[in-house]
Amino acid sequence: MEAAVGLVAEATDAGTSGDTRPGEVHRIEVDRIEVDLAEVDAAMARLDDGSYGRCAVCGTVLDDDMLQASPTARSCPDHR
Ligand SMILES: [Zn+2]
Repeated sequence: MEAAVGLVAEATDAGTSGDTRPGEVHRIEVDRIEVDLAEVDAAMARLDDGSYGRCAVCGTVLDDDMLQASPTARSCPDHR
């Protein structure tokens, strides 16, 4: 039982004293949003050149359900 208590204490420590500060989390979030925007730009470009909705590797038409879930998808499940 003592070992289990030790594990819990360790896990709690890791959660509260991690090396990611609040400002750092915010910066990471902004980076992520910028990446998303780049993805959207790329998807728009593919819409323009007619390649949107097709796998960039094999040219397979992507599933509508897949594009609904991930509109910026650029490859089929086989080529992720
Ligand atoms: Zn493919």
